Amino acid sequence: MKTMADDHAGTAAAPGPTPGEGGASLDFIRAIVAEDAATGRHHGRVATRFPPEPNGYLHIGHAKSICLNFGVAEEHAGTCNLRFDDTNPTKEDVEYVDAIKEDVAWLGFRWSAELYASDYFERLYQSAVDLIKRGKAYVDSLNPDEMRTYRGTLTEPGRNSPYRDRPVAENLDLFARMRAGEFPDGAHVLRAKIDMASPNVNMRDPTLYRIRHASHHRTGDAWCIYPMYDFAHPLSDALERITHSLCTLEYEDHRPLYDWLVNTLVDGDRPQQIEFARLNLNYTVMSKRKLLQLVQQKHVSGWNDPRMPTISGLRRRGYTPESIRDFCARIGVAKKENVIDVAQLEHSVREDLNRRAPRVMAVLRPLKIVLTNYPEDRVEEVDVINNPEDPSAGTRKVPFARVLYIERDDFMENPPKKFFRLSPGAEVRLRCAYFITCTDVVKGDGGEIVELRGTYDPATRGGDAPDGRRVKATLHWVSVAHAVPVEVRLYDRLFSIEDPENVPEGRTFIDTLNPRSLEVIGAAQAEPAVAALDVEARVQFERLGYFCVDSDSRKGALVFNRTVSLRDAWAKISQKTR
Ligand code: ATP
Ligand code: MG
Repeated sequence: MKTMADDHAGTAAAPGPTPGEGGASLDFIRAIVAEDAATGRHHGRVATRFPPEPNGYLHIGHAKSICLNFGVAEEHAGTCNLRFDDTNPTKEDVEYVDAIKEDVAWLGFRWSAELYASDYFERLYQSAVDLIKRGKAYVDSLNPDEMRTYRGTLTEPGRNSPYRDRPVAENLDLFARMRAGEFPDGAHVLRAKIDMASPNVNMRDPTLYRIRHASHHRTGDAWCIYPMYDFAHPLSDALERITHSLCTLEYEDHRPLYDWLVNTLVDGDRPQQIEFARLNLNYTVMSKRKLLQLVQQKHVSGWNDPRMPTISGLRRRGYTPESIRDFCARIGVAKKENVIDVAQLEHSVREDLNRRAPRVMAVLRPLKIVLTNYPEDRVEEVDVINNPEDPSAGTRKVPFARVLYIERDDFMENPPKKFFRLSPGAEVRLRCAYFITCTDVVKGDGGEIVELRGTYDPATRGGDAPDGRRVKATLHWVSVAHAVPVEVRLYDRLFSIEDPENVPEGRTFIDTLNPRSLEVIGAAQAEPAVAALDVEARVQFERLGYFCVDSDSRKGALVFNRTVSLRDAWAKISQKTR
């Protein structure tokens, strides 16, 4: 097995403070791991794993777990495995395996080993046989309804199954015949013999194996019995010599079973399970079942629809791996459930793109303006700054001519008091070009505005008046003769209520979908520089937001997704609370 240390070069380090250095405080998991490393528990080793079930695409919640597991390993020069928890053949698929690998790698992490719980099926089976031989497991033949009745409730203890005292030999025989395919689905299960009166229902003789005549995406028809997650997971951890098995809080009640299994079956260095609060985001659903439903019922275009909270959706939306890692570092890791404002995720990508995205000009809803005092056939190349945050990005030449597009919203014929952009008689700056004044409004038969007429001031070339005269607005613009038509897709929240995971009585989460989550602008106009952009390239359309080139783009027919607008709701919120 390769170690994380071998692979470490080239692994992008997570941004943010390095825990443990410079007195930065550690989250509770990092504190435990640091303590264990210091005291020599697990012989000083740190081995973690990220264990997705390949039954869907990864989402932003998984990113939290990925950053934690890979991050903790990296900080201790330990290992982190990518382990597919593929114990449920009917819901799993190689499509998901491939997508998960792509997403983890894209986030910037390299796994020490790529492993599958299904690779352990034979060893898991032998562990089950071991339990039977030691009188700690038995074949139960109650039907599912009876099993439920016998299990009891949260307030009432369970009762022992009449099959609980089957002799070891009979259990071994039945279990072998379950494996051999002699019984139909549901005829028998293998159960651990623990305590039917336990206050923790997970300890009431939990099922370890069930019969399922189904093909598995990796083992084919080799098996018709499959281990339960609660059995396979701790033993897979033990087989991989995981030291810290980090998982979300819903597994807290399963920890006694986890410990029972590793204590019963593993000698020496045993893995320990530690639970943390899952990531919840407002206006977002995160359960894979619900995300699958959105895909299957075509409420979105696929798992990677830019409105989805999946890693592939965020990637297509224009998020960078750095911004997602930054977000995960900011939200931290704790034991208490909470809901994170989606504006915080947007804040992380906005900050990152502000540093790295070159600026270009594009007009979403074009309105023509003809500069009547500008020579008909003249074209000037004006110098425009590529990125004010990054002087090394330099400037570019943008063609300026007599007929330009400006943004429809930047003009009002009868402006209210505080409207400082263009209106009849008003003077504004065109970015890095000239001051212009609107002189006329040309209207169609229906009274609609067709185009504007105006003049420019040749003395203001570059965007400044030598007489010190000021204007209150700077507009973006595109020369009509040089414009590149593009499609632009603007996104809003996929759900219109804050908590679509908990919808009011009588409605489903589907009913809370935001009908205006996608707005397609078919005929936007952009400056010529965009023609050179590749798929996934990220830019800022000045004054409009950060955009990226969508994979639907074809030569001469670019499609842009708006990643995020420029308005930072989170900065405002955090300022207020400060
Ligand atoms: P489902 O959405 O069906 O409940 P799952 O999210 O548990 O499935 P897994 O593939 O089992 O999906 O998850 C892999 C790992 O990611 C697990 O260790 C799980 O605890 C963690 N994880 C899943 N969702 C979140 C979340 N929202 N926040 C943090 N970690 C998560
Ligand atoms: Mg799970």
